[in-house]
Amino acid sequence: MDARSEKVFSLKSAAEALGFIAIGFSRPARPVHFDHFVAWLGEGKNADMAWLGKNIALREDPSRFLDGCRAIVSLAYPYPSKRPKTADGFFVSRYAAPSVEDYHTRLKRLCGNLVEVIDGGKKGSYQHRICVDSAPALERSLAYSSGLGFIGKNNMLIRPGYGSYFYLAEIFTTAPLDFSHGTLLENQCGSCSLCMDACPTGALEKPFVLDSSKCLSYLTIEHRGEIPEAWANKLGRCFFGCDRCQEVCPFNGRDVSTENALPMTEELLNMSEGEFKKRFGKTALGRPGIEKLKQNIRAARASGQPL
Ligand code: SF4
Ligand code: SF4
Repeated sequence: MDARSEKVFSLKSAAEALGFIAIGFSRPARPVHFDHFVAWLGEGKNADMAWLGKNIALREDPSRFLDGCRAIVSLAYPYPSKRPKTADGFFVSRYAAPSVEDYHTRLKRLCGNLVEVIDGGKKGSYQHRICVDSAPALERSLAYSSGLGFIGKNNMLIRPGYGSYFYLAEIFTTAPLDFSHGTLLENQCGSCSLCMDACPTGALEKPFVLDSSKCLSYLTIEHRGEIPEAWANKLGRCFFGCDRCQEVCPFNGRDVSTENALPMTEELLNMSEGEFKKRFGKTALGRPGIEKLKQNIRAARASGQPL
């Protein structure tokens, strides 16, 4: 095995030891799903997430992230296995993981360990850029191109044998890694439409097309202002994100175990900003801030819908 292949082998072993569930490699190229993304933007399906329409040149050409980029390492890291809930039975999306540090920070640190492997003990040998949901990259498309999974009708990256409950991260690097491309996994949804049938707002309008303005995940995290009543009524007991189109997916199995990771909703509603920052500011829940969460909790408590 030559040094470049050996490095890829070491990276795979290190990634596994750090808890990643999958690692794949691709060359920087126009993402396969780029045209679909641009068409989606053109129809205004990004709601008021204007930032998705910026830096299009970067999304189209990932080599622009880093001068001399030779390879993209795509990585998948598992969500916590249990669904986080409040002491009185309200939920947040699995990825929020309010018991642990924000995944952006955790994964960047873990990717930093992998960068050390690429550098082979000589810091600065190569240039790298780590991306964890933090740069204008079509992450799922890059992961697909590295063989990590296929894009389901719910737009999630699905890894057969594992499902879709994982975070994605990328390392863009100038290192001359010698790898064979993973096998591209074509869509395996078949005639299934469970995700679209389960979506309470009809946000999954058709396979692979999400209208963000109706999506509870968008409405409870990114949307500023009150959630329109028609959609607020569909929140059920989940007040941050929404996992329904993943929970019904046969690739995800049926694990419904929960974890008491949050206090009573009443306590959250009475929490000061300072206290919230102290307890949850370093978790993914910190992103929308306490006022948005309070608004969501009120809407979820009023919705009276079953889970
Ligand atoms: S996250 Fe929820 S609201 Fe959004 S598409 Fe999936 S099921 Fe529908
Ligand atoms: S629920 Fe069915 S259609 Fe939707 S992503 Fe999963 S397999 Fe595909």
